[in-house]
Amino acid sequence: MAAIIEFKHVDKYYGKLHALKDINLKIDEGQVVSIIGPSGSGKSTLIRTMNGLEPINSGQLIVTGYDLADKKTDINKIRKNVGMVFQQFNLYNNHTVLENVMLAPKIVLKRPDDENRKVAMEYLEKVGMADKINSYPRQLSGGQIQRVAIARSLAMHPKVILFDEPTSALDPEMIEDVLDVMKYVAEQGITMVVVTHEMGFAKKVSNRLIFFDKGQILEDRNPEEFFAYPDTERARQFLSKVI
Ligand code: ADP
Ligand code: MG
Repeated sequence: MAAIIEFKHVDKYYGKLHALKDINLKIDEGQVVSIIGPSGSGKSTLIRTMNGLEPINSGQLIVTGYDLADKKTDINKIRKNVGMVFQQFNLYNNHTVLENVMLAPKIVLKRPDDENRKVAMEYLEKVGMADKINSYPRQLSGGQIQRVAIARSLAMHPKVILFDEPTSALDPEMIEDVLDVMKYVAEQGITMVVVTHEMGFAKKVSNRLIFFDKGQILEDRNPEEFFAYPDTERARQFLSKVI
């Protein structure tokens, strides 16, 4: 299997704070990786380095064949391959749902609009938002916004989609709909890296589980095994609080 993301001895600092400590991690094509761990442990930092939103201080980070630590690397080439869905602020508020999904392929990929419309409609149907194409983000619920954000990522035909707690700002009744869409994405064989508090998703949909604490990978396991028999005391403590 070809690695699609590879960290080699990566360190990241915010001033004096050592946010990522000697990270070594290889993610293969098609893997669905959940990252869980306490608040402030560096999960967002880790995932944000993967598309260059956070620069690293040392080590090597290769994403879809491009070296992020190399100043000559064109970050836009990586971002064509790597989509990202955040906790919130995912859509352009002054554009309709359909425009939101059509925009990046038009501007970044220079794809023609009739194709963009076709692809956008296809994914908006998949995420259950085809009846809202002319709505603006302010007219949508949080769960609907996240589903459109996922459709927008998919429309770029990315190799990887990064998710940073996509359901944690949502009302409970909307979480399931978004998780269903994420499950659909996983079934398409797209590589996914998901920071999540949804232990059900981590256990059932992902095929790899990373437990992160204090800037380090403490466990990197099969999810079922992790939840049944955590290796570390830190993970046991964490699980006793969240489950
Ligand atoms: P998590 O996503 O696991 O909650 P983060 O990656 O957001 O953790 O944060 C890891 C640590 O880095 C925390 O101590 C946080 O306060 C700090 N941090 C995050 N972003 C910044 C930043 N832009 N500047 C300074 N410190 C930051
Ligand atoms: Mg975070």
